[in-house]
Amino acid sequence: MKILVLGSGAREHAIILALRSEEAEHEIFAAPGNAGIGQNAQLVALDANDPGAVTDFANENHVDLVIVGPEAPLVAGVADAVHERGIPVFGPSRMAAQLEGSKAFAKRIMDAAGVPTGRAVRAATRAEVEAAFDELGAPHVVKADGLAAGKGVIVTSDRDAALAHADEYLSSGAVLVEEFLAGPEVSLFFLSDGDHVLPLSPAQDYKRLLDGDEGPNTGGMGAYSPLPWLDGTFGSEEAFVDEVTRTVAEPVIRQLDAEGTPFIGLLYAGLILTESGVKVIEFNARFGDPETQVVLPRLVDPLSELLLAAASGHLEDLPRPAFADDVAVTVVLASEGYPAAPVTGRALTGLRDAEAIEGVHLAHAATAETDGGLVATGGRVLNVVGVATTFAQARERVYRAVDAIGLDGGQHRTDIAARVSEGL
Ligand code: AMP
Repeated sequence: MKILVLGSGAREHAIILALRSEEAEHEIFAAPGNAGIGQNAQLVALDANDPGAVTDFANENHVDLVIVGPEAPLVAGVADAVHERGIPVFGPSRMAAQLEGSKAFAKRIMDAAGVPTGRAVRAATRAEVEAAFDELGAPHVVKADGLAAGKGVIVTSDRDAALAHADEYLSSGAVLVEEFLAGPEVSLFFLSDGDHVLPLSPAQDYKRLLDGDEGPNTGGMGAYSPLPWLDGTFGSEEAFVDEVTRTVAEPVIRQLDAEGTPFIGLLYAGLILTESGVKVIEFNARFGDPETQVVLPRLVDPLSELLLAAASGHLEDLPRPAFADDVAVTVVLASEGYPAAPVTGRALTGLRDAEAIEGVHLAHAATAETDGGLVATGGRVLNVVGVATTFAQARERVYRAVDAIGLDGGQHRTDIAARVSEGL
């Protein structure tokens, strides 16, 4: 197949590595990609957010499948344009992608579909925010209604801090005040062809910058998959996945279809396992980053066939994707100053030594090749991924690899998958 992957992060690198691991040899283009992706795909200087440019490239190069990695091209209508040209595209339309972009839209769809989620109140004024705090109680959860790259959410028992956060976003629109949900978080991905869904294997990510879930929220500092502790509550991973498929993914996909906005692509369900059952905290309309980096290395079936079947409406014909018993752990290496003000342009060393460790590979997030060698070009720089038969072994490999990599001022968490490796 000829495949075009849009995006430039570690998620896109993970997608491309999964395509490369297949028996079939694909011709893979990446726009714009990064230095790591350039080792596994042909980089094209193309604006991934320009529907016309992407469609023309796909058309002229006889691309069989376009895979949209990040959200921005979806919001820009890239999937709509590629689809209209008759080229299979894995990624939802602009309208369906509102499931991620508008929290109010997502809540409305969930209500209509009867999907379990926390109560939420839309508030457009300070008085409405205060009334919602009184109604829903503490801790307070306030979310900006729109794209805020993970920074629009505050969860706090400090009413003044929650109000100050709401004030920041009220000037430019409404906020959502949500009921606080307590429990472990799980990310579960579903492939959807607009009509049918197929679940992947669950993962857990770490959103805070520092060990022990301290510090500011980030795009994600690490992840692991699978989640053996699900067995305790649900009997097995399969039973958990079945339940979420039935109570969350299928009703949402049916609802979107009934409203004339079929969702074709990756439905990412962000879940909290509360004492009163599984509840949705958010949906994303694309593969999660960094969860993709630990889910795809465990996928046994060819990714290209799954994504093409979703893009062309044939998921019904396929069995549920199979996953290896191996476990995967990823640790994100971030630049100094991330997330507030990352310092970029610093040299990266030791990557070869890291990759020489058994079971370890790297997914590049923000790297570029310069005359002086490889440099970091953004906040999250590299994902070190370790695959092994146990979490203890995967952690040992990953952290040995992290230690082999040099980046001045680099930051990483040391407790990724620590509890699960101790059987907790
Ligand atoms: P979101 O951008 O909606 O994914 O929220 C970011 C993070 O805030 C989530 O991963 C949760 O850790 C936390 N969060 C969001 N909504 C809630 C909620 N209703 N109750 C508890 N924690 C939440």
